[in-house]
Order: sequence, then C-alpha cells, then structure tokens
Amino acid sequence: MATHRTKMLIIGSGPAGYSAAIYGARAMMEPIVVQGLQPGGQLTITTDVENYPGFADVIQGPWLMEQMQKQAEHVGTKMMWDTIVEVDLANGSPFRAVGDSGDEYIGDVLVIATGAQAKWLGVPGEQELGGKGVSACATCDGFFYRGKKVAVIGGGNTAVEEALYLTNHSQDVTLIHRRDELRAEKILQERLLKHPNIKVLWNKSVASFEGDAMGAGLTHLALTDTVTGDASTLEVDGAFVAIGHAPSTELFKDKLPMENGGYLVTEPGSPRTEIPGVFAAGDVTDHVYRQAVTAAGMGCMAALDAERFLATLEN
Ligand code: NDP
Repeated sequence: MATHRTKMLIIGSGPAGYSAAIYGARAMMEPIVVQGLQPGGQLTITTDVENYPGFADVIQGPWLMEQMQKQAEHVGTKMMWDTIVEVDLANGSPFRAVGDSGDEYIGDVLVIATGAQAKWLGVPGEQELGGKGVSACATCDGFFYRGKKVAVIGGGNTAVEEALYLTNHSQDVTLIHRRDELRAEKILQERLLKHPNIKVLWNKSVASFEGDAMGAGLTHLALTDTVTGDASTLEVDGAFVAIGHAPSTELFKDKLPMENGGYLVTEPGSPRTEIPGVFAAGDVTDHVYRQAVTAAGMGCMAALDAERFLATLEN
C-alpha cells in the first residue's frame, strides 16, 4: 500500500478526465489520473466516431482514447490502474481517496470525471440472460450474432446507431421503441427507416427476456403494446438494451448534491461543485449534451478552475 500525493487528483479516464489531465499537466499540477474499471471510458466500447473535431476521416473510439491518454502522459500525467472505492471530502482540501488496490491518493484539488454507464430495463430475465443473449453494447457483442435475429430496445441515438451497426452482422434487426416517434437525430432516423434489414416495432415495451440461461440462452422477448396493452412475442437470438445512461456517482452519495437521477450538481456554466476544490466534468454532471467533445471541454474548464483554486490556497 502506497500513498500518492498530487496537486490534482482526477478520478476517471474518459475525454473529461484526460482533457483535465492535459491542461493540468501543462499548468504544472502534476496530475494523477485514477483510471477506473474501464480505462478510456464509454468511447472504448464504440466504433466509428465522425463528430469529434479535428479528424477529416472517420476514426475509432478506442483509438481516440488511446491518443488522449498518450497525450496526457506525454505532458506529464501519471496514470494509475486502480479504481477509487472511497473518498473523503468532508474536511476540505486536501482530499483523500482510497483505491481498490489499498493505495491512498491525496489531491489538493479533485476532478470527478467518472462518466456514466448503460442503463438496464430491470425486467425479468434481463440479468439472468446477461451475456447469454442480452447485452448493452452492440459494438462489443454484435459479432456473436452473425446471421442471427437481433433486437435493439430504445429510440435515441444510441439505439439507432446500434441497430445500424448490427446490420453489419445480421440481416434481421428489429428496433423496439415504447413510443411512435424516435428521439434520435433526423439523419440517423432516415438511415434507420430506409434500411432494408431493419424493421421498427412502435409502441412496444419489453415485459421480459425469455430463454434458458443454462442452455440455449435468449430465445424470445415478451412484449407489451404501450397503447393497447396487448401482449406479443418476438423471436430473437440477441437483444441489445440501449435506453440511455446513468451517471457513476455512487461514491459521492451524501457527499455532494445530485440531480436528475444522480448527476452531480455544479454551478451553472462551470465545473465547480459546492465544495471548493472539487470539480465535476463530463457525463457525470451532464445529462443534456453527453458528447465526447463537450466532456473534453468541461475537463479543460475543470483544470483552469483548479489552477485558480490552487492560486487562492497559495495566497
Ligand atoms: P437517450 O436518453 O437519448 O435515449 C434513450 C432512449 O431509450 C429513448 O428513446 C427512451 O424513450 C428510451 N428509454 C428510456 N428508458 C426506457 C425504458 N425504461 N423502457 C424503454 N425505453 C426506454 O439516450 P442515448 O443513449 O440514445 O443517448 C444519450 C446521449 O448521447 C444523447 O444526448 C445522444 O444524442 C448522445 N449520443 C450521440 C451520438 C452521436 O452523436 N453520434 C451517439 C450516441 C449517443 P423515450 O424516447 O420514449 O424517452
């Protein structure tokens, strides 16, 4: 067990955490990034990225995160392969955190960039058949359903992108949405609706995932019509739940104020939380935009504010 001391402790390694680290390192704050269970964050489980500025060609999410990590290290960030399991914010700066490894981390400022995780429906069969036909990541698991029947549940950008992605592997893709209108961007909707291998089931919710967790895995979905209440079934080999994300904020329960189902509250237009020296950036605090580029911008803002906070400590 070791103690790591830094001016700037960053928890989380998505675009927000890495951008905070790049700016923090260049401001001589010698940041430490504790990377967490999924180094690189949600972009490491995506494929094509065509909306991150600066790249004329389509790039890959995992590659982009690798570049951000290397850039942060290159300018002087220390990366730690550890997951924070406990934080102590009660006594103000310096803040103390403890990793899964037993190591202790102490930072004069703390940047929380723990991001968000996929949400689940919470219906029968979902957990039991997880990894046996039920998944929350088409780009991770779609390959296993080559030539088979698959469904995606949800009506946002993620669901539509996942359905389109799955057509690389399957000729039989069904999108199941609880309303009769998609939330996804128009351009994605158009691609989805004109795709010959995708059909959409409108006004349907999944009542349960059915199959044999010990044997064949998922075999079908029990559906309920959200308008008429009628029950129906859909035979599928794979189902992808794509209904949005929940912020990773369990660590900060009763320590920092939260809103909208667990997002950390910051001062409007800033990454400052109510505790001086604690900043939140990226999806952990943003339930509106949730983009790599906005997360990166917030990471930058957190580092600039961290620098100002440290200056007040020194004076
Ligand atoms: P969203 O919150 O945008 O969409 C979630 C979808 O799931 C909605 O259609 C919602 O239905 C549905 N849903 C939610 N809960 C349930 C439930 N319990 N049962 C059934 N359906 C449910 O999440 P996304 O993950 O799609 O997107 C998150 C953010 O990331 C958005 O801002 C999006 O724009 C962005 N994004 C951008 C991408 C890009 O630019 N390329 C790619 C992916 C995401 P309803 O519509 O009825 O509320």
